[in-house]
Amino acid sequence: MEDDSDECSPKVHGGSSNVVEENRSFWENQLQLLQTNVYKISTVELSLRNATKEAIEEIDRSECSCSRHIKGSARACRNCFMRQVSRWLQNSGFNSAICNTKWTSSHNLPSGEHTFLDVIHSTSKEKSDVRIMIELNFRSQFEMGKASEDYNNLVKKLPEVYVGKVERLSNIIKIMCMAAKRCLKENKMHMGPWRKHKYMLAKWLGPCKRNTSTNSISMVYSQTITPKQKVKASMLTVDLLDKIPNMHCTAVEVV
Ligand SMILES: [Zn+2]
Repeated sequence: MEDDSDECSPKVHGGSSNVVEENRSFWENQLQLLQTNVYKISTVELSLRNATKEAIEEIDRSECSCSRHIKGSARACRNCFMRQVSRWLQNSGFNSAICNTKWTSSHNLPSGEHTFLDVIHSTSKEKSDVRIMIELNFRSQFEMGKASEDYNNLVKKLPEVYVGKVERLSNIIKIMCMAAKRCLKENKMHMGPWRKHKYMLAKWLGPCKRNTSTNSISMVYSQTITPKQKVKASMLTVDLLDKIPNMHCTAVEVV
């Protein structure tokens, strides 16, 4: 049985003030690290963040147009939401795509798949392309039903929509996974495998397929990749391999 208490605040036995202080400093440290990674962003991240915000405001006025026929705004349908944001960004001049990661189960890691957006930004100044990730439902992925106030304070700092570089996402994931582990441990609760660092890494930073088509899913493999895009795709592979060992990213091939 799980502990039924609503809080997972530290349970201090024996009233040791060292434990209390250690806990305090852990949570303060996590909060500070998180704020650094959430708020200090580059110009390109800021302009993409603004474009994504505009896209969402526009999409809130449109409806689901896929085979799922979900009632209400297109935002209620993750398929339509992602496709429409990607299309808007492409029309604004960004090299945006829908990314799909898929992984098999291995040692404590259940299998799964995840879909999100990214933008490959090329500049003359930087040697390699910069990959910016866009997760439209970011905050909710870290929410926990019986979390402590300390943990919830961190969740509140997360943006609902994440737009930022891979490195920053990787840092945030690490901070949040450490915090979740701590919170659950303090309350002697089991940590679901989907909350673990390994799972989060597979979800966003594992091998992925990039689909630049914003049409229906059946169009995915029928798009034409221009030679220029092929060069970019291969540069992305090299870039990611350098930064993330044992992982690779492949572009969608023409079938
Ligand atoms: Zn839809």
